[in-house]
Amino acid sequence: MIQRPAASRPAFFGHSVSGDRAIYSFDRPCVKFSAVDPQKPPPKRIAVIAGDGIGQEVIPQALKVIRSSGADVEISEFDWGADRYLRDEMTVPPDGFAMLGRDFDAVFAGAFGDPRVKTNIHAKEILLGMRFKMDLYANVRPVRLLDAALCPLKGVEPKDVDFVVIRENTEGVYTDAGGVFKQGTPDEIAIQEDINTRKGVERIIRYAFEYCEEHPRLDGSPRGRVLMVDKSNAMTHAGGLWQRVFEEVSGEHPRITAQHMYVDAVCMQMVRDPRPFDVIVTNNMFGDIITDIAAGLQGGLGMAASGNIHPGKTSMFEPVHGSAPPIAGKDLANPCGAILTAAMMLAHLGFTREAGRIDAAVLEAVRQKKTTQDIGGTLGTREAGEWVAEIVSRH
Ligand code: ATP
Repeated sequence: MIQRPAASRPAFFGHSVSGDRAIYSFDRPCVKFSAVDPQKPPPKRIAVIAGDGIGQEVIPQALKVIRSSGADVEISEFDWGADRYLRDEMTVPPDGFAMLGRDFDAVFAGAFGDPRVKTNIHAKEILLGMRFKMDLYANVRPVRLLDAALCPLKGVEPKDVDFVVIRENTEGVYTDAGGVFKQGTPDEIAIQEDINTRKGVERIIRYAFEYCEEHPRLDGSPRGRVLMVDKSNAMTHAGGLWQRVFEEVSGEHPRITAQHMYVDAVCMQMVRDPRPFDVIVTNNMFGDIITDIAAGLQGGLGMAASGNIHPGKTSMFEPVHGSAPPIAGKDLANPCGAILTAAMMLAHLGFTREAGRIDAAVLEAVRQKKTTQDIGGTLGTREAGEWVAEIVSRH
């Protein structure tokens, strides 16, 4: 059977309609037609957008690790980000999001944000554009402590920190609804709307319960609790909707214990004792904030992974950290968050064995301190990535 390799599809390859180019592709010839085994599934197609700042440093390391895992994937890189925006004022080509959804099985993104772009418009259009326009409504952020030495809390072991935050990703205050009236006068009024739709709230709460049923803890034991986090005592209208839907959906999952906490109490609990957390579901802004605290439990932003998921559609995976301008270009950035994100993406694409080997190699790197300085090692970004890639290729 003759099959045209996906990388040669004109929508994104070479100087295409959108003007974008695949910077490179591996594991498959780029433009040739080739004979393929009809029994063998085609390679999974991954679009990579490294973006800005440390995204440019950590994503290449994660790609080395993906390659060393042997997962049958086809990679196409895109240069969307600050440099491209400053060069030709393009943030995303007209067909960009449709192309990602149509031509790829997953998107792997780095970080967006650059001090040269004061408005941050490109970051907003690329990152929020992917989340909103591709309707990636579930932001899944696993919080796992790989080694006790990484946790700032006393006496906390890896088995004590193994929870997941499911953050609503398409609504809330991030929709940019609102406005400013009488700007620059003493009477100025600024309104930022918090958008909560029945559909949006219901689907994220459902996702959390289904996630809880389908994803065991790292030690293999089943998960059993979904905790909804809100501020319904103060934000009564939006909170009321979340409360009603949570009660309704939890009734459909009698095996799972449904719990509720206010977001302020969750912040305190997280730094006092994270053991009780299992699956947390919350809105867009609270999810953003509590996952930074949660990243602190894991060893910092450099260790945290995330996926932006719409079941059945092309989903996007990105480390939790941003572009980190103060450390960008210095070979200091920890690539583990990006590497663990790559593992999460591979597992999502069905490469569970490869993902497991990558997770194990990162754990080994942490134990042997073959890491960057932020988590106690002495290696640079590149060396740390190469060490993990080498371990993965041996197993
Ligand atoms: P954003 O607004 O995009 O979330 P931010 O400015 O809030 O970004 P980050 O860019 O994620 O936050 O980084 C904040 C700080 O955390 C950095 O300046 C850096 O000190 C540290 N940091 C973040 N990511 C890493 C990493 N991968 N390795 C080491 N340190 C990191």
